[in-house]
Amino acid sequence: MPVDFVILGGGPAGVQAASTAARLGARVTLVEDNVVGGSANLRDCIPSKAMIATGGVLTLAARAHKLGLERLEPRLDLAAMRERVEAITGRIEATSTQLLASQGVRVISGRGRLDGARTIEVDSMEEGSISLHADAILLATGSRPRVPTWAPVDGKRVLLTRQAYPPEEIPEHLVVIGSGVTGVEFVHMFRSLGSKVTLIVSRQQILPQKDPEVAAALETDFLATGVRLLKGARAEGIEVHDDGTVTVACDDGRMVTGSHVLLAIGSLPNSESLGLDTAGVQTDTRGFVPINQHCQSNIPHIYAAGDVSGRLPLSSVAFVQGRRAAEHVMGLHTREHRHLDYDKAASAIFTEPEIADVGLAEAEAFAVGRKIRVTKVPFATNARALINGDPRGFIKIVSDPATGVVLGGSIVGERAAELISVLAVAVTNNLRVTDLAESLLVHPALAEALAEAAE
Ligand SMILES: Cc1cc2nc3c(=O)[nH]c(=O)nc-3n(C[C@H](O)[C@H](O)[C@H](O)COP(=O)(O)OP(=O)(O)OC[C@H]3O[C@@H](n4cnc5c(N)ncnc54)[C@H](O)[C@@H]3O)c2cc1C
Repeated sequence: MPVDFVILGGGPAGVQAASTAARLGARVTLVEDNVVGGSANLRDCIPSKAMIATGGVLTLAARAHKLGLERLEPRLDLAAMRERVEAITGRIEATSTQLLASQGVRVISGRGRLDGARTIEVDSMEEGSISLHADAILLATGSRPRVPTWAPVDGKRVLLTRQAYPPEEIPEHLVVIGSGVTGVEFVHMFRSLGSKVTLIVSRQQILPQKDPEVAAALETDFLATGVRLLKGARAEGIEVHDDGTVTVACDDGRMVTGSHVLLAIGSLPNSESLGLDTAGVQTDTRGFVPINQHCQSNIPHIYAAGDVSGRLPLSSVAFVQGRRAAEHVMGLHTREHRHLDYDKAASAIFTEPEIADVGLAEAEAFAVGRKIRVTKVPFATNARALINGDPRGFIKIVSDPATGVVLGGSIVGERAAELISVLAVAVTNNLRVTDLAESLLVHPALAEALAEAAE
């Protein structure tokens, strides 16, 4: 008898798990209450990157004269950009749906919850109430933006991330609350599309979790392009005025008024209405479902993957977790399953300059007193960066001084999100700096700076 595998949530984690398990012979049902492809993925991650790409062309055009062109002044076509964003997300949704259909996965459009350890109840829009038996269950329900009690979110003037695209209008003056990865991407996105932007930074450093040198590089660029930073201020109130303006009040008495406010202050797991208590599935104090190496919760046949697992909230991580959970359900864990080391996950921030990092950061090593070797090469000495007209930024490699093993790295500059893959492969596979330095690379290429930093 095939294994009955029921998946709640059709984001990157759920779709990847469904596809893997179906390929391995499971009878798979996927329950999704919004959009196959995932709400966080298709309503946040992908649209934000698509709009950043449009803004990037405007920024590039502003620099075009440096490459020997007459000054270019393209203007934003808002309707065309909206259409483009919708076409991209529609395409990804269709691709996921077709993939699952071709593999015989039953997709139910509706909201599911556990009713005991082996039954899923679904309120389906098309099929009414459905009861499903499961030998194994995957919770892949993702997360949603956190909304503080003091924020009157209306989707018009006071926005959550996923309400900001595709936008009806480009904000005249956007006030962004939250200076983590999401907050700074929004600053960059709307600044490049023509908004005046103010960023409220609760500490003294934007991107507080990142290497200070990396954060400083972005801050320099923000200030150079007119972004206003309100540092050491915590937002604690928002008032929408009759004239359409919005004022944010900070805990130190400072006020900032703009045309729109965007909240980017973290997310909450979608776990509270899943009936987890009926099956005895434990959550942590914030509602995330703790998991082991195979993505199992405390109940061995109930798995969790993606944002709801409380590990790194990245689509890239959700994909791998979904695949891993499905393989374990199908007994493939007996084959050597490499230890999934979340500390070695690469991540990127799609700002300008782009930022990416992987593994151990210099500041992190310093904080725990670990001996490291740090080498840094600026793009200003890289031929390709000069040719492209954008020599900002640097590559920094952190390695073990005794063995030469690459422990981590940060990249600030053009194509950082692509280049970091090389360092991610090195970190994951314990390659040494000499392995990078002795590789025969292309010339002229930005990647040459990687080899140089590895020397
Ligand atoms: C602004 C922003 C930008 C981002 N940019 C990036 C990026 O550049 N790179 C990156 O790797 N990650 C990025 N992320 C993070 C990424 O989007 C998430 O980590 C990823 O989508 C998580 O996948 P998931 O499958 O866990 O959840 P989701 O993609 O949210 O999918 C979960 C699905 O489950 C459904 N669901 C919830 N409850 C139920 C239920 N009871 N029954 C049925 N269905 C249910 C939801 O509707 C949703 O569709 C970004 C996030 C944000 C907010």
